[in-house]
Formats: sequence, C-alpha cells, structure tokens
Amino acid sequence: MTDRQVPVLVVGGSLVGLSASLLLASAGVPHLLVERHRGTAVHPRAASFHQRTMEIFRGAGIQDAVEAAAEREFEQNGAIVSVESLAAEEATFFFRHFNEGVEHLSPTARLFITQIGLEPLLRRAAEERGAEHRYATELVGFEQDDDGVTSVIRSRDRDTEETVRSDYLVAADGAHSKVRDLAGIGSSGRGTFAECVTIYFRADMRALIGDRNLSVVYVNHPELLGFFRFSITGDSGFLAVFSTTEPDGTRDTHVAADMDTARCEALVRKALGRTDIAVEIDNVQRWSAAASWASRFQDRRVFLAGDAAHVMPPTGGFGGNTGVADAHNLAWKLAMVLHGTAGAGLLDTYDAERRPVASLTVEQAYTRYVLRVDPTLPKDDMAAPLDDASIELGPVHRSAAVLEEGSVDGALVVDPRDPGGRPGTRAPHLTVESEGVSTSILDVFGGGFVLLAGPRGQAWCDAAGPVAADLAVPLVAHRVAADGSLVDRGQSFPEAFGTGDEGAVIVRPDGIVAWRTTAAPGNPRGDLDQTLRRLLFR
Ligand SMILES: Cc1cc2nc3c(=O)[nH]c(=O)nc-3n(C[C@H](O)[C@H](O)[C@H](O)COP(=O)(O)OP(=O)(O)OC[C@H]3O[C@@H](n4cnc5c(N)ncnc54)[C@H](O)[C@@H]3O)c2cc1C
Repeated sequence: MTDRQVPVLVVGGSLVGLSASLLLASAGVPHLLVERHRGTAVHPRAASFHQRTMEIFRGAGIQDAVEAAAEREFEQNGAIVSVESLAAEEATFFFRHFNEGVEHLSPTARLFITQIGLEPLLRRAAEERGAEHRYATELVGFEQDDDGVTSVIRSRDRDTEETVRSDYLVAADGAHSKVRDLAGIGSSGRGTFAECVTIYFRADMRALIGDRNLSVVYVNHPELLGFFRFSITGDSGFLAVFSTTEPDGTRDTHVAADMDTARCEALVRKALGRTDIAVEIDNVQRWSAAASWASRFQDRRVFLAGDAAHVMPPTGGFGGNTGVADAHNLAWKLAMVLHGTAGAGLLDTYDAERRPVASLTVEQAYTRYVLRVDPTLPKDDMAAPLDDASIELGPVHRSAAVLEEGSVDGALVVDPRDPGGRPGTRAPHLTVESEGVSTSILDVFGGGFVLLAGPRGQAWCDAAGPVAADLAVPLVAHRVAADGSLVDRGQSFPEAFGTGDEGAVIVRPDGIVAWRTTAAPGNPRGDLDQTLRRLLFR
C-alpha cells in the first residue's frame, strides 16, 4: 500500500539534489526530497562555482543572495597557483584572477562559496517555492513499472518506513549512489587513482598569505601533493592531500588509510613551509580521486544527476558545477512532460545530452590532475587540455531535442568567445534593453520556449502567438533590433546568434538553442509548428 504520491522523488539533498529541487519548484513541479543527513553540508567541499552555474542561479532568482554570502566567505576573484609551500614564491599561475578574460561572456562572474554557505540558500529558496524536504530520511529501495516508481523511505529518527509512489525519481545521492546500484547501472572511465583526505585546520596564516589574494593554492612539495583553500580571515582553511612521498622515495596514494592527528599536523606544517606555526586539526574527511561516469544516466523513470552520474578529481572545480548543469537540463524536461506540454520522449534526451558532456568534463578534470598534481598517471590516452571557459560555457548538447544544422562537425564544445547561436549550445550573453531597462538577453529565458528573430524577422514573431496557442506551448517571441521589443543598440544580435537579419532562433527553457534558421520567413507558421512539434516529441 502506498503512503504517499508525488510527481517526483528527489533522493539526496546536498548540492545537486537541492539545485534540482529549486529548479523543479521554480518550474511548478511538486516533489519530495529526502536526505539521509539531518541538515545541509557540514563540510565546505566545492567552492569554485562557474559562470554557467551562476547563470542558472540567476535564472532561479538567487544570484544576489549567493554573491552576498560568497563575499562573506572569501575575497573573490583571486589567483589559482602552485607553490612548493605557502612560504615559497608562486611557481605557476593557473589563473592570476579567477575571472580574467571571461568578464564579458556572462552577466555573472565565477565565484567562491562553500557548500556550507550555498546549500542553505538553495534549500530556503526551494522551500519558499513550495518544495518539501525531509531530512534524516533515507531511501531504502525502489521498484519501477511502466507507470511509476515505488520507493521505500525510512525516517532515521522514528525508525519508521513509508512507501512513496512517484512518476519519476531523480537520484542525486552522490558517488556511492544506492539508486545507481539498485538500477544495475555500471560505470566507464578510469576508476579511482588516489584515496585522499581533506584536513580542516586552524592556524594563523595571515603573515604567510600577506596581501596575496589566493583562491586555490596547489602544493607541489617533494613530500606531498595537495591543495589549500583559506578562510577570508586567514586563520583557518583546509589542505586536501592527494599523495605523500617518504624521504626514501616511497609514494603513498592511499593517504586516507593512515591519518591520525599528528600526521595531519605534520602535513599541514610541511605544506605551509613553516614548523613554528601552531596548527589545530578540526576534522578530516576522506574521499577518492576518481574519474568515471555512469554508463547510463537514465533507467526508464529514474535519472542520475551529479556525483551519482559522474565523479572527477577536484582539479578544475568541475564536479559540482557539472551536477548543477545536470539538474538544470532535467528539471524543465520533467516539468514539460508532467505538465503535458511535451511527450515522454523528451526525457530520453537527458542521457543523450548530458553523458557526453559529463564524460568530456571528467576527462578534462583528469588531464588537469595529471598536469597539475600527478604526472606519473597514464598520459597516452589523455585528452588535450581545453580552455576552462569552453568547458564551462561551450558544451554542445546533441539529441532529438536539438535540431542540428546541415553540417555537423562532431564538436563537443565550442569557444564561447566566438559568435554563438549554434543549436545545442548555450545562447550567448548580449546586453539588450527590455521595457527601458538594460539587461542580459539570458534573462528572457527560463520560462517556456523563446523565439528571437533578427531585425527583419518580424513575421517569425507574428507567427509565434498563433502557433503557441494551437499547441498550448509557452512561447514568447522578440524581434531583437535597434527598434525591436528587445532593443539591441549595438545591432550585434544577427552575428552573435548567427541568424542574419531575417532569421530566428528558438531557445529552450534551459537557455540552450534548440533551432536556428538564417532564412527569411516563407511559411513561418508552418515552420514553427513543425519545429516545436519535433522539439516537444508530439
Ligand atoms: C576537496 C574537494 C573539493 C571540491 N571542489 C569543488 C569545486 O571547487 N567546484 C566543484 O564544482 N566541485 C568541487 N568538488 C566536487 C563536489 O563537491 C561534488 O561534485 C558535489 O558535492 C556533488 O554533489 P552531489 O549533490 O551530487 O553529491 P553529494 O554532495 O555526495 O550529496 C549526496 C547526498 O545524498 C545523500 N544520500 C546518499 N544516499 C542517500 C539515500 N539512500 N537516501 C537519502 N539521502 C542519501 C547524502 O547524504 C548526500 O547528502 C570538490 C570535491 C572535493 C572532495
């Protein structure tokens, strides 16, 4: 007997589960989130959040809150460097300023905020939009049939079990995903190459840091490889340790196995490069450096997101960002299918779109691990490093929910500095005016579909209303021009989106370009009707 029915059950209430919950709630999808722990994150873990993630948070209305909380935690826009020890000069600068060269690509900036700071904001915003979260509650098991998923959840406090019937299940239950195991989904990739620790400590590092603004400090010391992050006050931080090397040359990539307080203190002092600083150890967290991805992100009505779908080393700061992008890709698809706007086939595009992008990102994190941390790892089949902005803003999504143009080159990422608008990619940022207010064109996306037409594409816009009404599809249309409903004073839209003056694009609710034409409208109503039917699997 079922105790509860809900359209979506989200398992896991950390970074990705909470992001999924916020996005589902924003799209009007009732759901229940269960989380085994009693609250949000107690360890800082992810801290570097990329522009695409911040665009997603902007769309969900929490950009200001995230930025304000981030300012309280870190001095922003710092350097990412490697040193032999903190007391030494910087040996390599990976970034001199975290946002250098990407400021013009987005209305948002990359920023640093810990999961401790971020997760309560996600939780509160989701709950304010109607989400139901149950902490100290774990998924024990589930079964699915053609019509839905029946899950058993257990309250840890009351030791009682309940059955939940949902149309869909989103597994955001982390690297050791029970849902993934129960669904029998295997994994591909390189597996685990180090058993690491994060040592949370207190020490007065203000004199050592000086006036340097250091966001991440890789430590390439003869006796240890790892990285530091410091609190804004300079009196606490963490040292993540990937491996150690004994004076006799014996290398240990399983440091998690043997880590008592004295060893932690010694490692922190070594990485600081000073033995005379008092170090107090607060906590030690064990984790695996691994590079793998689930062989499927979907099992019928069950979808894997975040670390449940892919794990990667923290080099590059891609893990959590990729998980938020998964949630973003999935939430609008679930909403449109559950609301009856799209056919269920739309959901099959989640795996098709996210798995190739995630596996590419995992490989990029691995490449950075080899180049920045451990050159002894296999390099033969290593991917060449791609530039960070392309990984963050340039993934190309390929599926039947994107109508590709004639010549398809197989690229998995594009450079966001080049003119955009290619179907499958994020619609580029452009400053426009809407009702007298200067804004990013990205702010127009997020509800339903959006049609954007060039200066001489008014007929596309005229056709949008009747087609939206015929199909009962949320679709708004704008002509983007010096005198358009979106005012483009620089007249840069036709080139930035590749539509020319007479063409148009359709942008999905997740800001991905679904379709583009450079053609003058011939039979715009027929063309739009046919295009939307294909995009919506109707
Ligand atoms: C040292 C370090 C630094 C990092 N830095 C960055 C960074 O700068 N940027 C970045 O993007 N990423 C970073 N990452 C990676 C990032 O932390 C992870 O990718 C991210 O936390 C994954 O979030 P998640 O919600 O998918 O999984 P998790 O955070 O693992 O959350 C899964 C949740 O599911 C819950 N759960 C599990 N099983 C059940 C069950 N049966 N029932 C109910 N609940 C369950 C768990 O309690 C947990 O809260 C870093 C990782 C490490 C280790």
